[in-house]
Amino acid sequence: MKVLKFGGSSVGHPDRIRGIVDILKRYYAAGDHFTVVFSAFGGVTDQLIEMSQLAAQGNDRYGQLFEEFSDRHQSAITALLDGTGGYTETSQQLRRSHEVLKNLLYGIFLVREASPRTMDYVLSFGERSSAYIISQALQQAGIPTEFLDARRVVKTDKTFGNAKVNFEKTYQKIQEHFTQHPKVQVVTGFIASAKGGLTTTLGRGGSDYTASLLAAGLDATAIEIWTDVNGVLTADPRRVKKAFTIPTMTYAEAMEMSHFGAKVIYPPTLMPALQRRIPLYIKNTFAPEFGGYQGQ
Ligand code: ADP
Ligand code: ASP
Ligand code: MG
Repeated sequence: MKVLKFGGSSVGHPDRIRGIVDILKRYYAAGDHFTVVFSAFGGVTDQLIEMSQLAAQGNDRYGQLFEEFSDRHQSAITALLDGTGGYTETSQQLRRSHEVLKNLLYGIFLVREASPRTMDYVLSFGERSSAYIISQALQQAGIPTEFLDARRVVKTDKTFGNAKVNFEKTYQKIQEHFTQHPKVQVVTGFIASAKGGLTTTLGRGGSDYTASLLAAGLDATAIEIWTDVNGVLTADPRRVKKAFTIPTMTYAEAMEMSHFGAKVIYPPTLMPALQRRIPLYIKNTFAPEFGGYQGQ
């Protein structure tokens, strides 16, 4: 079993999602067992924060941002799914879900407050929407998939915004779920749940962590973080033009790089991988043949 994760930078636009569908079709055709984690569409988490903040300030411009959010997902459905059954069902399902978000934002607007607990629930709509749409697109492409809301398996405390994982419970839930669900699981990154069914999040950039938790729970053979750069470079290539790929490094080195700002890996991700000695590869969605990797 491999765990693949595609970040917001890889799922910014339907064309890019088509590229991912092609990548996954190749995995499936090769007979690889895999599960795949998705982040929210690029920029969506920031937009959800912005609309909640506007609502909490009593600024009704939040409504316009909500419409843009909703339209963006509906357009993705139109672009990715053809007119057969899946299209209408997915579109309606998302409309129903986004209606809940709209009501939630109105609640924030009325009480003028977006607590960390409310924010985590608001933010969950990003990953829930992207992973659901992409699971349907993969299904149409002939891969038998099932959407998995990670709140069912990733269990945390109530530190909203940066929740601490209960590893024992989480690994147990993951094993139970995957034993009962043989189809390819398409999983929401970033989100989790605490006692009482409360929605929590793992911290900004936390979808990487979701992937390594699943990998550790499943004793996977590899974690592949698919993003928009050729692995871990000597510096952020957006800032340092001459930065170059470090072909291989130990877990400790990767941990150090991530703690010192290499955003390409969310720092807590390394620990579950290290504990189970699962190799972690950083791959480039825009250059699939490339493969840099961290420690074994
Ligand atoms: P994703 O949306 O796939 O999770 P992120 O934006 O979180 O992607 O992480 C990828 C980004 O990390 C790259 O676009 C790059 O600008 C940034 N980055 C910062 N430091 C490094 C580094 N040392 N090596 C590679 N990428 C880095
Ligand atoms: N969507 C979340 C964020 O923007 C999680 C992630 O992308 O990993 O922080
Ligand atoms: Mg990231």
